[in-house]
Amino acid sequence: MTATTAENIAESHVFEADVARLLHMMVHSVYSDKDVFLRELISNAADACEKLRYEAIAHPGLLGNDPDSRILLTLDVDGGKLIVEDNGIGMSRDEMIEALGTIARSGTRAFMERIEANKQGEGAQLIGQFGVGFYSCFMVADRVDVVSRRAGAEDAWLWSSDGKGGYSVAPVDVSEAPARGTRITLHLMEDAKSYASRWTVERIVKEQSGHVPVPIKIAEKPG
Ligand code: ADP
Ligand code: MG
Repeated sequence: MTATTAENIAESHVFEADVARLLHMMVHSVYSDKDVFLRELISNAADACEKLRYEAIAHPGLLGNDPDSRILLTLDVDGGKLIVEDNGIGMSRDEMIEALGTIARSGTRAFMERIEANKQGEGAQLIGQFGVGFYSCFMVADRVDVVSRRAGAEDAWLWSSDGKGGYSVAPVDVSEAPARGTRITLHLMEDAKSYASRWTVERIVKEQSGHVPVPIKIAEKPG
């Protein structure tokens, strides 16, 4: 891609009204248990690996020379970041905009009404049940960068948001993206820096993601 094409300019998008409302609720801590964000990201990563396995039945070439699914959590204590990466199906530009900027599900309104009626208790389960899992990462991060390359695609994309009004989408060089799949970087809020610590992340993975059918590795970013 040349540096002069319009494609290289990040496009700004505004969140759909329901997403903005949901994010406002997330950020204002409707849930006492913020740990659920990691379960949601891991569950999405595992779903993406499962989708790839399914598509690869008809198109084995999608697996390339990397047939084994994996999820990697990278802890960057100094940078205050947690990175969740998978080598699953990945997302195209249009899929990112659809999946991370709208709520496709009709249950969203019912979800929000239930949350508002029941501020604490069932929040954690409701997030997963209604398919609004991804947005829960804005409970702990004030910026989220999603770099994704769909299996078999020649291009890769960066979705970035502070979880307030909207998000940007821009092409990235494939050398900066996973060979296939999705890398989500959470820039942790001041009071959520513990989510870059091994002790905390290992505890949550053990408590909440024990059943995930894809191996989860935890690594520290070399300082
Ligand atoms: P749900 O998982 O119930 O569909 P989420 O809010 O957790 O709802 O995720 C929304 C959508 O974003 C997913 O359905 C998927 O299309 C996309 N998505 C999220 N994370 C990933 C990922 N790691 N790889 C591929 N697609 C993803
Ligand atoms: Mg999900």
